[in-house]
Amino acid sequence: MTGGAQDPAYPVEEHTPSTPEWTCDTCGAEWPCAAKRARLLMEYQVDRAALSVYLGSCLAAATEDLPPAPGTSLQDRFIGWLPRTPRSI
Ligand SMILES: [Zn+2]
Repeated sequence: MTGGAQDPAYPVEEHTPSTPEWTCDTCGAEWPCAAKRARLLMEYQVDRAALSVYLGSCLAAATEDLPPAPGTSLQDRFIGWLPRTPRSI
């Protein structure tokens, strides 16, 4: 595994959250948008625990920024999309 450097064939769009609305700066979808989710899974594939910590901190910040919305769960939005690890040894 080499890793580390950015692949020049893969243009980097940041897909950063725009607060306090927590929409994507790049595509305008609710953050984390589909592109960001795919990016995060790639970046954190060897350290899923760190990804959970990162998303948890985003969730905590978004909970302060966003008013409670009936019928939607910020926890589902920020963390619920994570695939379960197939097996723990
Ligand atoms: Zn996006």
